[in-house]
Amino acid sequence: MRFASIGSGSQGNGTLIDNGGEGTLLLDCGFSAREARNRIAEKSLLPADLAGILVTHEHGDHSKGVATLANSLRLPVHCTWGTYQSALMGRLDEALFHRIDADSVFSLAGLDIQSVAVPHDAREPCQFVFSSSRFRLGILTDVGSFNRAMVAAYQACDGLMLECNHDLRMLADGPYPAQLKRRVAGHFGHLNNQQAADFLRQVAHPRLQCLIATHISQKNNTRALAIDALQQAQAGGDFAIQAASQDNGFDWITLQPRSNAILSSSAERQLALDLET
Ligand SMILES: [Zn+2]
Ligand SMILES: [Zn+2]
Repeated sequence: MRFASIGSGSQGNGTLIDNGGEGTLLLDCGFSAREARNRIAEKSLLPADLAGILVTHEHGDHSKGVATLANSLRLPVHCTWGTYQSALMGRLDEALFHRIDADSVFSLAGLDIQSVAVPHDAREPCQFVFSSSRFRLGILTDVGSFNRAMVAAYQACDGLMLECNHDLRMLADGPYPAQLKRRVAGHFGHLNNQQAADFLRQVAHPRLQCLIATHISQKNNTRALAIDALQQAQAGGDFAIQAASQDNGFDWITLQPRSNAILSSSAERQLALDLET
């Protein structure tokens, strides 16, 4: 399994998940269809190679180009009823809409995909964990807070894209009006660096090999601050940390099988336990 971002942040988001020969999915399309096509091409992929689009929620930085891109390429779009009603109804060809429920598991492109209901100021938002027979990729952005169900859902990931939206001090001192500051920092807003670090502490596992800080605010955070907060929570974990950018996202990352030396037998047992729960 490999994955790449075509852009990450409040100006637009999109993630490509490629399950080898079984198909490539686009998670969110917060760019115009034309810009999304260009950004997908920059990842050496043709939009016609896509097997479908998933949408996390209706905010424009996740849904802007979905209907136009899907209609033109005849791509199925998978999202909750609330997201469909809020962003796509009347714009997306009805025949392309495939309803998913939050907190359920469904299959696409040879992947088992778990939808996770999240606290965010949208109608029916959910985030996703993608599992192949060998790897798990967790993607979590646009959440104001996290709960036990979310921690359980993101256990034992090999790759994790985690929102580090803002630094609390930069947000407090920054240019946003007071009401917007409250919204961003609220329970239904966005994860700050410290919350992301706390979440990482609760889900980090010997399997984890790459962690990407995503949805980083250009006004209220820096990539360096986000990475620093995640490094503080790394606690000896053997995984790479990088930050996604608004302009280019990040290039393809291919998940690799962990060597036995790293994934010790005790870690394997813990993994078996985690996957059972
Ligand atoms: Zn967003
Ligand atoms: Zn949002």
